[in-house]
Amino acid sequence: MIRTRFAPSPTGYLHIGGARTALYAWAYARKHGGKFILRIEDTDLERSTPQSVQAILDGMAWLGLDYDEGPFYQTQRMQRYAEVIQKLLNDGHAYYCYCSKTELDRMREEQRRAGLKPRYDGRCRGLDKKPGAGETPVIRFKNPLEGKVVIDDLIKGRVVVSNEELDDLIIARQDGTPTYNFCVVVDDYDMQITHVIRGDDHLNNTPRQINILKALSASLPQYAHVPMILGQDGERLSKRHGAVSVMQYKEEGYLPGALLNYLARLGWAHGDAEIFSLEEFVTWFEITAVHKSAAKFDPEKLAWLNQERIKMMSEQQLSQLVHTFLPSGFNFSKPSLENVTKLLKERVHTVKELAEHARVFYETPSPNADLLKQYMNAQILEHLMALRKPLETLDWERATLHAALKQFVKERGLSFAQIAIPLRIVILGSTQSPSIDAVLELLGKAETLHRLDRFLADAA
Ligand code: GLU
Repeated sequence: MIRTRFAPSPTGYLHIGGARTALYAWAYARKHGGKFILRIEDTDLERSTPQSVQAILDGMAWLGLDYDEGPFYQTQRMQRYAEVIQKLLNDGHAYYCYCSKTELDRMREEQRRAGLKPRYDGRCRGLDKKPGAGETPVIRFKNPLEGKVVIDDLIKGRVVVSNEELDDLIIARQDGTPTYNFCVVVDDYDMQITHVIRGDDHLNNTPRQINILKALSASLPQYAHVPMILGQDGERLSKRHGAVSVMQYKEEGYLPGALLNYLARLGWAHGDAEIFSLEEFVTWFEITAVHKSAAKFDPEKLAWLNQERIKMMSEQQLSQLVHTFLPSGFNFSKPSLENVTKLLKERVHTVKELAEHARVFYETPSPNADLLKQYMNAQILEHLMALRKPLETLDWERATLHAALKQFVKERGLSFAQIAIPLRIVILGSTQSPSIDAVLELLGKAETLHRLDRFLADAA
């Protein structure tokens, strides 16, 4: 049975790089009928926060990346780590190291001077000494002295690291707490992870982790190291490049399906498919087809995809989302939010943008001073005043509205825009909207005339 995991450190929000790694691990498990496990790597007590844990859980829930087991917390597994450390000591795979900081500094300095790479030289390896009273040694793993570690990474291909390059990793600190790399190994072992799919910033850790797994006589998982996501400038993606937190995309009105679609496609391709459902992705996904090199994040493409996905949604579903971006207290049946959504959905990139446009159907916008200055004058006011009359008696439908406006501008020798733009400003507060007749139809006669009257009264 295939078992994958996502193992974030809760030191911040769930960022889009993490979300993509999670998506790949999730999809791999789903495709193969396996299990997907969530593990919170919270052993770094100083940097881990409950808020970050919550942000990760919220992000996963919003994206719909459901897990079959967990969340497991490393801080709740301390006893198990202690047990495995003891086992490694008993089996001669680990040893106490009594070197002081000064001694280690001196050792490294000498190595540097001799032109060598600084590394622990294993001087306590043969001591075989249990700590006496008051002694607080660290515990190191006995890395093999010879041979090499071969990783047949499912994405990166074969990576070979000679054991001579690896020194004896500290697995327990002076206070007895286990170190990060060690906890990962014990967890992957206990959770019977078959495929470790993670960011390639962890590729360096893999040979050490494999050696520890071997010492535990564990069967080795397969590894797939997913390249980083970079900004357009080729730098590692950070806040500087805009939103990087998954939940920020929620707040900005992105659809989880669009974000997943974008992230899936970023660094992986299936022919020339750009828009696909999560189900299609799961069917098509091959971990070995993930690109070897880093991908560049393109916010414009994401916005485009979001727009396409918004268009594909039913008005009924979409309007429920739009609702969450609007203040409560409006009467969303007059006009119906579903109809407003239908009118606006072709034109927006985000649900939030849609909600902003929808808002003017439920509350009279205050006229924008700059626009008024630019488009309003005594003559236009006179036109608007005159327009009131034909509108008042009109059979209120899009086609008749259109005909009436056409007739009106024709009689007065105006272009359509000369009346449509000021009308938009008065009724909707901005110059942009779908076709004015459609907007007026939806807004209704009473509300349209009410807004017009209010404006004309204020202007008088
Ligand atoms: N906790 C690590 C991180 O957030 C991931 C470790 C792993 O996947 O092995 O980067």
